[in-house]
Amino acid sequence: MAVSGKTKVYGIIACPVEHSMSPLMQNFFAAEAGADLTYVPFRVEPEDLEDALRGLCALNVQGVNVTVPHKQRVIPYLSEIDDTAASIGAVNTLVRTDEGFKGFNTDAEGFLTAIRARGTDPAGLDCILIGAGGAARAAAFVLAREGANKIICLNRTLSRAERLMDDIGARFPDVEREALPLDAWPEIGGNGYLAVQTTSVGMTPDIGSSPIEDERFFEKLSFAMDVIYTPARTRFLKFAEDAGVPTCNGLDMLICQGMAAFSLWNPGLTLPAGAFDGARDIVTKFLEEGA
Ligand code: NAP
Repeated sequence: MAVSGKTKVYGIIACPVEHSMSPLMQNFFAAEAGADLTYVPFRVEPEDLEDALRGLCALNVQGVNVTVPHKQRVIPYLSEIDDTAASIGAVNTLVRTDEGFKGFNTDAEGFLTAIRARGTDPAGLDCILIGAGGAARAAAFVLAREGANKIICLNRTLSRAERLMDDIGARFPDVEREALPLDAWPEIGGNGYLAVQTTSVGMTPDIGSSPIEDERFFEKLSFAMDVIYTPARTRFLKFAEDAGVPTCNGLDMLICQGMAAFSLWNPGLTLPAGAFDGARDIVTKFLEEGA
């Protein structure tokens, strides 16, 4: 679509931003939906974040995605924050309003849509969350909100897992919670767990690693999700597959969070039915070419 004086501008702020797949994905969605918009990458150093937000606002940029390392640091510069994003404590999508930017978290909905598409619903399930960073906070919030019975958070830094479980307890007191150091997983009894791997362990170029490397852990699972999407099949997911456990990688979550952001920016437009598969093909091709 040609860029004219009426074209609306969107983008992503990150550091680095060069590897982002969001420009490819969002410009594809715009073309599919016939939206007169363009989406561009903005590399923003952490110390420039406040200036960047003011500049984006002054330039009438209509919305941006926010990713590493700005998802939490951007919150003080927003004019408003959506309840879900405030509960999670991280935002990944900003929407321009008359007052400034309002922050949302579409990682949470992306995560839920991705696991549901694989036939897994958190309601009534016992869950194991590996990691306690931003992605873990989004996943924990969704698991609790959707009626998980129990969440056990395993993290290298125990205090961070404890803080996350305390925050979940304050909002969802009926969910059973436990925080354990990562290497204490053998203490977990029973089986049938929905496991969500949210650490960066196993991400390219560290593809030979998994946060847990013992097959006995994977025998406890009924479903395994890894939020990493490079590589498409992490060592964690390979362990799960070898144990006969159904899996989902982070690619579906990435595309679903992007579709949710597009919908927030374009409430009157509907993406056509093939948009998800089309975006998946484009992103997969990009990853294969970059590998
Ligand atoms: P983050 O806030 O920095 O959290 C990183 C987590 O990884 C922490 O729990 C950290 O543990 C753990 N960790 C890091 N190195 C470790 C190691 N060597 N051993 C054990 N644990 C380690 O990062 P994030 O924003 O949550 O992102 C995490 C991953 O999720 C990234 O790979 C990111 O690309 C992915 N992600 C995917 C999507 C998607 O749409 N698919 C969306 C968001 C994020 P400590 O607390 O001990 O440091």
